[in-house]
Amino acid sequence: MSRTSLITGITGQDGAYLAKLLLEKGYEVYGIYPRRTADTLWRLRELGVDKQVRLLDADLTDLSSLIRSMQTSQPDEVYNLGAQSFVFSSWNQPLLTGDVSGIGVARLLEALRIVKPDARFYQASTSEMFGLIQAERQDESTPFYPRSPYGVAKLYGHWITVNYRESFKMHASSGILFNHESPLRGLEFVTRKVTDAVARIKLGKQQELLLGNMDAKRDWGFAGDYVEAMWLMLQQQSPDDYVVATGQTTSVRDMCRIAFAHVGLNYEDHVRVDPALFRPAEVDVLLGNPEKARRKLGWTPKTSLEQLITMMVDADLRRVSRD
Ligand code: NDP
Ligand code: GDP
Repeated sequence: MSRTSLITGITGQDGAYLAKLLLEKGYEVYGIYPRRTADTLWRLRELGVDKQVRLLDADLTDLSSLIRSMQTSQPDEVYNLGAQSFVFSSWNQPLLTGDVSGIGVARLLEALRIVKPDARFYQASTSEMFGLIQAERQDESTPFYPRSPYGVAKLYGHWITVNYRESFKMHASSGILFNHESPLRGLEFVTRKVTDAVARIKLGKQQELLLGNMDAKRDWGFAGDYVEAMWLMLQQQSPDDYVVATGQTTSVRDMCRIAFAHVGLNYEDHVRVDPALFRPAEVDVLLGNPEKARRKLGWTPKTSLEQLITMMVDADLRRVSRD
């Protein structure tokens, strides 16, 4: 029997990969589409699924639109990927970030509780909740210490998900995902900023690349691998929280080295540090322990950082040449 899913944030990086995965599994896929900017469907188009998803005019800040979305779609599974997801912007827009990425989760859970309380729910939590890390490798039992308005908002979203699970026995799971990237990553994030610049510099369209803190370290994986973990969480008999990560950490500097080296360039010849890009409070290092996801979900990452960065540089070379 065909199942129905509803994805918030379907126009984002993870939303596009998840929509494709669910369509391949035979789901009917609905997505919430806030329609604020001109062309946010490009990712769905790039994956060839823009015509197969059903878009609903709704917004995480508008409860009535969320209730209507639940009524129209009658979902078996709801994936809450919608967010103001860029950490740097969250200091400039802390209230909007809290409203969308924090309270928005409560709104969606309320809509679900009112219309379809037996549906399964996935919350997109984040390693940014660990912030000032309290353990060298972070897992599900590591205390949280967020370092940005984004991290604080996501912590609310995480705990309200746990609370609805415990209060109302809802099948609500939270995936604590470490950074994950792809050719569909937004240009504001450091990996894609770098791979786009590498392509432009290689093709003679840009001279230099300005970056902030190159000593920060992240546990970077491939978004295409990570959406499988989201789906697996909702196939379990009981809801739970899972860390999803690669278990490797790499500095921004070394990630740059890999990206430039792929086209035969030395990053030191092109990258300049701009102090304006430093953050008011930094998350210096993140390193996840995905053991529980491996043990309980049978999930392991398939793509190495070298493969990921190479895939992104190649995609950007194609895009820049085409433009
Ligand atoms: P993106 O920034 O690519 O996508 C965010 C999505 O949220 C977009 O579709 C955006 O719509 C939508 N959105 C923004 N504001 C609203 C709103 N008010 N109402 C409804 N939808 C809204 O994020 P990713 O795909 O990378 O991430 C998906 C989720 O996972 C996010 O919640 C993010 O915080 C979280 N996460 C991501 C990680 C990562 O490394 N990528 C790591 C851990 C967690 P529009 O396109 O119109 O702006
Ligand atoms: P985040 O982990 O969700 O904040 O993902 P980002 O890709 O935005 O940032 C990852 C790390 O790269 C952070 O520690 C940033 O401080 C660092 N960084 C260094 N230079 C830049 C830059 O120019 N842009 C971004 N976005 N991050 C940068």
